[in-house]
Amino acid sequence: MGDGIGLAEALLGLDGFRVLEVHETPAELVVKIETTATVVGCDGCGVRAEAQDRVERAVRDLPCFGRPARLVWAKRRWRCREVLCARKTWTEISPQLDAQQVLTDRAGAEACRQVGELARPVSRVAEELGVCWWTVMNATIEHGTRLVDDPARVGTVRHLGVDETSFLKANRHHSTLYATGLVDLRRSRLIDMVEGNSAADLRRWTAGADPDWLGRIRVVATDLAQSYRAGLSPHLDHARRVADPFHIVRVANRTLDQIRRRVQNETLGHRGRKADPLYRIRKLLLSGAERLDERRHRPAPARPTRRRPERRGPRRLARHRSSP
Ligand SMILES: [Zn+2]
Repeated sequence: MGDGIGLAEALLGLDGFRVLEVHETPAELVVKIETTATVVGCDGCGVRAEAQDRVERAVRDLPCFGRPARLVWAKRRWRCREVLCARKTWTEISPQLDAQQVLTDRAGAEACRQVGELARPVSRVAEELGVCWWTVMNATIEHGTRLVDDPARVGTVRHLGVDETSFLKANRHHSTLYATGLVDLRRSRLIDMVEGNSAADLRRWTAGADPDWLGRIRVVATDLAQSYRAGLSPHLDHARRVADPFHIVRVANRTLDQIRRRVQNETLGHRGRKADPLYRIRKLLLSGAERLDERRHRPAPARPTRRRPERRGPRRLARHRSSP
C-alpha cells in the first residue's frame, strides 16, 4: 500500500472497489471508483462475458476530511457473446453500493445518527454532506424507521408515561398542533409519538399495540386531563392509573398563588406591592421544601412600608418651561 491510490482505497473502505482517481473541486472531493471484478461469467449461460462500455453513476458518501465527498462509479456494462443466450447485455451491480440512491448506505445511516441520536439540525448535516434538506430527512426516516420499529428497542414496559407535547406552534393556517408522547418511565425512553392529544388518538394507539405487551403494563401515569384518562380505556383498564407528580405540583402551585392573591386583596385592599409581606414571599411559597435553606424556613422580618415621595411634576415642568 505504498502508492497514493492504495491509501485512497484504504480510506474508501468499500470491499470489491478500487480507486481510479481522486480530484478536488471548490465544493467537494470527487473519488472515481470501479469494481475489482475484471472477469465475470454470464448469468444466463455461464460463458465468460465481454466488457462492452462504462456508465458513470454518482453517489454521495460520508464527508472526507471536512469536505463533502462524491463517489463516481464507472460501472462496467457486460455483454454475452453467446448467440443463443437471451441475456445480451447488463450493467454490474454491487451489494456495497446502490447507484440508484443519492446517498451511500453508510452516509444515510450516519445522517440518521446525527439527526436522530445527536439531535443536530437537518440543514447542518445536509450542508456537510453536500446534499439538500430532503435527502437527509429521507435518510433519517428510512434508517430511523428500522431502529424505531425494532421490537428489541422497547421490550417489556411496566410503567408507562403519557403526556402531550406542543408539536407545532399556531400560525395563520392552523392552531397549535399537539402530539402525545409515550414513555417507558423506568428507563426514561421514548416509546412512540402519536399525532394529536385526544382520547381517540390515545385509544387508536393502544388498539394497534400488541395486547400481550399492553397486558404487562402495571402503572400508567398521565396528566390530570380527562381525555387521556378516558383514552386508556378499554385496552389499559387493568393498569393502575396515577397522575404525574409534575402536574399535581403545578396545580397545587397555581391554587396556592390564587389564594395568596385573594388574601392579599382582602387584607390590604390592593394588589401585591413590592413591600407587602405576601408579595415578597410569592416565590418562596412555590419553592419545594427540600430546596429551602435554614434562612428561608424562618419567617421574614417585617419591613416598614416607605411612603412614596410627593410628586413635584408640575412645578418642575414649569421651571423647565421658563429656562432658556
Ligand atoms: Zn450468456
